[in-house]
Amino acid sequence: MAAASVLRLAAATTWAGAARRPGKISSPYFSIRCNLHISTESTLSHTSEDSKILLKGMAYNELEAWVKNAGFKSGQALMLWRWMYGNGKWAQHVDDLEGFNKSFVSMLRDTAEFNVLSCEETRVAMDGTKKMIFNLGGNDRIETVLIPGPRNRVTVCVSSQVGCAMNCQFCYTGRMGLRRNLTAAQIVEQLVIAQRSCAADMGQVSNVVFMGMGEPLHNIDNVLRAAEIMIDLHGLHISPRKITVSTSGLVPQLRRFCRESSCSLAVSLNATTDEVRNWIMPINRKYNLAALLGALKEELSSKKDFKVLFEYILLAGINDSVEDAHRLIQLVRDIPCKINLITFNPHTEAAFIPTSEQKMLHFRDIIANAGLVVAIRHSRGDDQMAACGQLGQLGLDRAPKLKVPRQFQSVLTQAEDHLSAAAIL
Ligand code: SF4
Repeated sequence: MAAASVLRLAAATTWAGAARRPGKISSPYFSIRCNLHISTESTLSHTSEDSKILLKGMAYNELEAWVKNAGFKSGQALMLWRWMYGNGKWAQHVDDLEGFNKSFVSMLRDTAEFNVLSCEETRVAMDGTKKMIFNLGGNDRIETVLIPGPRNRVTVCVSSQVGCAMNCQFCYTGRMGLRRNLTAAQIVEQLVIAQRSCAADMGQVSNVVFMGMGEPLHNIDNVLRAAEIMIDLHGLHISPRKITVSTSGLVPQLRRFCRESSCSLAVSLNATTDEVRNWIMPINRKYNLAALLGALKEELSSKKDFKVLFEYILLAGINDSVEDAHRLIQLVRDIPCKINLITFNPHTEAAFIPTSEQKMLHFRDIIANAGLVVAIRHSRGDDQMAACGQLGQLGLDRAPKLKVPRQFQSVLTQAEDHLSAAAIL
């Protein structure tokens, strides 16, 4: 395959449930003035529109109870769980099952749904990163990214919402606004399909990151449930430490996550002053840096051997000064943490340009010299819009661009000229 070519795999599957639209959310955009939709409509439903049970939306104890309630022994539930999630099985359809009681299979056929996603297209980037696009019906699509690492290990980046309400100004997904939450079954199935795909040509899934489309903690019920299913010993069996849920800073949900989940946590920080963060991450107007970091300090004080991962996307002339580096050290030094410095991935919807390699290294060194653990994370899959902050498909509706603080207006004007000349904007 030519390096820049796109591998398009026509969807070989026409799985049931592709056109279902559970839990549509009425308010499309995050807006400070009209209040953040913290508690969304419930999308916890474990049933499809035709009232079939969504098997991948149930934790094991729920599946077992459902099987027993239908008049079968719990052993059938364990077998089914292993066929859905066991290594090398990942059953796609009731017809894939072998060795089951016939009346149990018949009951499943009549009342249960295996699949809730339909893979519409797969794109492979020059560095081997693979982006799978799933059609949820209508114009709603989500994207899942498979990122190859050393020793045939693969990190899977899953989506938790169609679009996102947070409107971070550097993020392509944020420009979509929020269309709806994903169900737990739709989140889990991204991983199951990724496992199946990796087994064919990439290796083994070692890590899962909730860093795809959406703010995971804005859909916390389904994200907690999906993570619980992913870590189950008899199923997908991903270590909780290898599952990272990332948030832009929803403080009440962050507190709940810290108390209820054993998975890893990442916080997308990206600024060292409220003024800059209010602009590029408007969630900061509701939960500012002091509230966010204060909550983290409190919650992590009772967790042993736990480090939060701070993500910091470097934007040239906006948040990458030497003063920013020193302020960042002061902000996080009392919190057990690691810091990832992330290269900004340009796209048509944001007039930012990435910080130069040399400046990134200098920024990193200042932080490392203060004794903090810091690494640079380079772009993966950016030639196929599969990199951090590049996921999604825009419709006609766009989330609003926010007013640029006066001191950054000339930086933004220069960036716009630069990006226009490079035919990016
Ligand atoms: S960076 Fe994350 S939270 Fe912010 S708009 Fe994008 S998807 Fe949403």
